[in-house]
Amino acid sequence: MTPSVYTPSANARRVAIMTSGGDSQGMNGVVRAVVRMSIHMGCEAYAILEGYEGLVRGGDAIKRMYWEDVRGYLSIGGTLIGTKRCQEFKARSGRMEAAKNLVMKGISGLIVCGGDGSLTGADIFRSEWPSLLDELVQTKQLTPEQIEPHRHLNICGLVGSIDNDFSGTDATIGCYSSLQRICEMVDAVDDTAASHMRGFVIEVMGRNCGWLALMASIATGADYVFIPEKPPGQDWEEEMCEIVISHRKLGKRRTIIIISEGAQNTELQKITADQVVKVLTEKLKLDTRKTVLGHIQRGGLPSYYDRWLATLQGVEAVKALLEATPETPSPVITVRENKILRSDLQECVRLTKSAGAALKGKDFKKAMNLRDIEFKDYFDSYKLTTSTTEENPRLRLPKEKHMRIAIIHVGAPCAGMNPAVRAAVAYCLSRGHTPLAIYNGFPGLQRHHADKPVGSVRELKWIDVDDWVNQGGSELGTNRSLPSEDVPTTADCFRLYKFDALFLIGGFEAFTSASQIRNNRDKYPSFRIPLLVLPATISNNVPGTEYSLGSDTCLNTLVGFCDVIRQSASASRRRVFVVETQGGKSGYLATMTGLAVGALAVYTPEDGINMRMLLRDIDFIREDFQDDKGAARAGKIILRNERASEIYTTQMIADVINVEAQGRFDARVAVPGHYQQGMKPSPIDRIRSFKLAIKCMQFLEDNFAGKSRDEINANPLNAAIIGIQGSDAVFSPMGSDLGLEATQADWAMRRQITEYWRPVKGIIDILSGRPNDTNWLAEYGKPPGPLGEAFTSVAPSRSGSPLAQRP
Ligand code: ADP
Repeated sequence: MTPSVYTPSANARRVAIMTSGGDSQGMNGVVRAVVRMSIHMGCEAYAILEGYEGLVRGGDAIKRMYWEDVRGYLSIGGTLIGTKRCQEFKARSGRMEAAKNLVMKGISGLIVCGGDGSLTGADIFRSEWPSLLDELVQTKQLTPEQIEPHRHLNICGLVGSIDNDFSGTDATIGCYSSLQRICEMVDAVDDTAASHMRGFVIEVMGRNCGWLALMASIATGADYVFIPEKPPGQDWEEEMCEIVISHRKLGKRRTIIIISEGAQNTELQKITADQVVKVLTEKLKLDTRKTVLGHIQRGGLPSYYDRWLATLQGVEAVKALLEATPETPSPVITVRENKILRSDLQECVRLTKSAGAALKGKDFKKAMNLRDIEFKDYFDSYKLTTSTTEENPRLRLPKEKHMRIAIIHVGAPCAGMNPAVRAAVAYCLSRGHTPLAIYNGFPGLQRHHADKPVGSVRELKWIDVDDWVNQGGSELGTNRSLPSEDVPTTADCFRLYKFDALFLIGGFEAFTSASQIRNNRDKYPSFRIPLLVLPATISNNVPGTEYSLGSDTCLNTLVGFCDVIRQSASASRRRVFVVETQGGKSGYLATMTGLAVGALAVYTPEDGINMRMLLRDIDFIREDFQDDKGAARAGKIILRNERASEIYTTQMIADVINVEAQGRFDARVAVPGHYQQGMKPSPIDRIRSFKLAIKCMQFLEDNFAGKSRDEINANPLNAAIIGIQGSDAVFSPMGSDLGLEATQADWAMRRQITEYWRPVKGIIDILSGRPNDTNWLAEYGKPPGPLGEAFTSVAPSRSGSPLAQRP
């Protein structure tokens, strides 16, 4: 007897999500986003338990998922729907069982979140699908009528892995949380190492990919790194010892070597942590210990970035599935800088495999290039910043190209400011430039004008900044004062110290300062030097960039804060927290935190707050508490930016909720205040400060080193800002009609005119089920075919969708 098969009706397509291979932080966020977005789009959602094993087994391993089932998933590490390695799926017979199970369940869309193995499996499954169905008919396991509605299986891949070893994407879901764990551990080891002047060799995961090891080395300022893609030469023992000795001579009290578990020499022989320990102990008589981090790296809470990535990619995967036609090649969702993209699954799998093959074939150059466009640049820059040798002739520019580059922090302190200086200084020294620190911002410069020759401008040496790699705040000292407070003295200092360029690291004030200096060039010749701004502010409100240093650390801190207070409600139940974030007149922090914690509502200055909105939200909260039937003990979060409304203050919102709730639930206010700045910079802020600061120095060098005043004047980028825009890091001019000052600066509100993150609010609403007036269909597009017809333009509230409710 042939089993009964589900035939999809017009408006209830079935979409399944599976996590597979090694688990990683953020996989649960993917499941939540896929389940809720599918329901929102009018589909039935399913989870396949235990990866491909569940797919092969079928039955109750393919489980219907409802809205409530994924509550709280965002903040939990690992994968709650399980993952297993499955040998059967590697054989065609196993894949045939899997195909049969999908047909029987009526599932026509499959989203697989896993590493390269899992996605290879998905790609094979997709390519075999028609022949698997034919064989199922031939062997009389299914009838032609049964398979007919399922001729096309749409598959979409999501890359979930801590290794970041998949070609075609900057980051895999989980890699940054894992890196965060590694950095925490290395920072901790660092303290004890420095106390005893010890050496530590730390082994990190990554299989045959060196991304975790290299990024950890950059983020913690390790002295030497071993990665599989760049095997050291035969003389690595001497090279490593030389670097360690040179660092020690400069006064460094500890030695950290990071080694990838896949480290090898050019003959593909493994290099082990024990071997490295032996070299340091025997050759340098250095008291050296080994630490293998192991599975700690997979554990812990997902970082802000992984929640962001998991959510946006999960939403994108559902959209991609629903838009797919039989002709569309299967996509894998990738990310490039700040942009979520759809790439070709087959092509990315092929590239990933060729990177592996290149490694095996000892073509290391190719393997390195196939990893990621910037991987090699990172490695080269890392090498450059660990070579203290101001004498390395190969790296030095000719004397006439040497510049005196002044570095200043402007605005409120934030994580990432110190590592950015460190990277810039290391770069400058290796090239022959003179890095000059301006202490305590513009007032520091102005105040100490008369204190010649010391003043507040000093040359920085490598050892001055080396341990800034993981320090939050600003070692240079920073404040909000502007050059306009004393323009003539500022100009005179520029002349006195013979600055050839000014590198400003800071927020909107840094932008404003550069603008003021630029606008005074006519009057003061010393201002006619290149000015370059590197945005650094938790508010992320600087024109010309979608990302500012420090914002990632702040978001991680806010996400951690919300997790903690939410849990605090688990004894009392039914509590809403109204959390007030900083950010000035920019709703970025509130919105992105809202995305990462699954907030019920987010209030921003851009959209304001009104009574209708508030009352509707209170109805929604009431409904939400009713639906969860006490299942979720944790509290709920509303985020309110500090300047969202003059009238509806954070306390007032909580008071209104309390009155309206009539005892059924209560509301409390939580204000993290300056705690939001965070402690140590997050790995993302460390790596990006490293990358962007070096790009800035290269930019100054390429455009202005050895150039005449006239040439500098003629270059429209002589006052510029570096920023991440979509998938690229770009330099934009500040001046002229097309420059950022005229086109992108909202001076009154102190924020960008185009805030790229605004549509994210729509996704938060969709995934929390909050009703709103926005036409999200216009924003996210209508799926083709009959499914699209089932759509209304206004997002239904969660309870409005029958597919959301457990019968
Ligand atoms: P990851 O996805 O993290 O790289 P694995 O390499 O262990 O993890 O793959 C996970 C699962 O994906 C395997 O247990 C297997 O079921 C499936 N898989 C991996 N490679 C293939 C393949 N070449 N063909 C079919 N299935 C595969």
